[in-house]
Amino acid sequence: MTAILTKHEPLLLEVKGNALDDGPGIRSVVFFKGCKLSCRWCHNPESLSQNAELSFNVADCISGCTRCRGHCPEDAIMPGVGINRWACTRCFDCVPVCPSGALRQVGKPANVAELMAKLRADKPFYEASGGGVTFSGGEPTLAMELLGELAAACRAEGIHTLLETAGYFRWEPFERGVLPHLNAIYYDLKLMDSEDHRAYCGVPNERILANFKRLVELSRAGTFDLQPRIPLVPDITATEENLTAIGRFLLDVGVRQVRLLDYNPTWVDKGPQLGIANKFTELDIMRTWLPRGLAARLRQHLVDLGLEAI
Ligand code: SF4
Ligand code: SF4
Repeated sequence: MTAILTKHEPLLLEVKGNALDDGPGIRSVVFFKGCKLSCRWCHNPESLSQNAELSFNVADCISGCTRCRGHCPEDAIMPGVGINRWACTRCFDCVPVCPSGALRQVGKPANVAELMAKLRADKPFYEASGGGVTFSGGEPTLAMELLGELAAACRAEGIHTLLETAGYFRWEPFERGVLPHLNAIYYDLKLMDSEDHRAYCGVPNERILANFKRLVELSRAGTFDLQPRIPLVPDITATEENLTAIGRFLLDVGVRQVRLLDYNPTWVDKGPQLGIANKFTELDIMRTWLPRGLAARLRQHLVDLGLEAI
């Protein structure tokens, strides 16, 4: 049996190349695993836990194949049906014997040298397109040391670096170890009411807002770009009341531009594969993409407040 990974070892989900939606140009996106927030709508539920997890996609399981069962020391697999999550110890012995990829280990330790070699190989694409490397997740700042090491290594090779963050991090180690190595930050603001933020995201928002204000001040020196983003989640963040509050906060701190992110319901399929219960099972509106008309109305609402909404 292989060793179970320790709880606090930083894990990565994957590195995705040729990405066009996570910053300027052609980028590689390094997805970290683990997040202090637990947003109910998270479209990457596999990124929430800091632990490695077993994903089982029943749709990919080959009918009549029972190969994994004989390799599970806990008898935790019901081929074609599911995993007994109480019995599974996450040893991952079943993963390499699965011929279809229905069983997957989600989350692996980072090998910085291997990772840098992979990122370096795509440098010609970054240079030709004005792209670079994006650190995403999960929450990359949860692995502050690894994030700083990777960002510094990229910058040392002239690779543009961008961090996507929910902003819930300790300021001092971030300012000291990560910020000097970043070209850009995409910073998510979700709910302006702190109690709502705690209810829907698991933590209050005071630290997030304080960190954002510090970054606004420092960004005036022009050493990095700062882009606030608001995920539009039906009936939760995507309300005129919440957008008004966020818009006024941004204008108060001197920010004029905000990016809106359309709601993405991919948790509907991903959650069950990881044994994570769907939280909005009864609400049809949470199982579909945001209506275009609503997104346009909310965008106009921010424009009316005096912001450029992109
Ligand atoms: S990861 Fe879980 S299901 Fe797979 S072999 Fe180990 S105990 Fe069995
Ligand atoms: S080894 Fe893979 S394909 Fe075969 S029964 Fe197990 S999960 Fe299904």
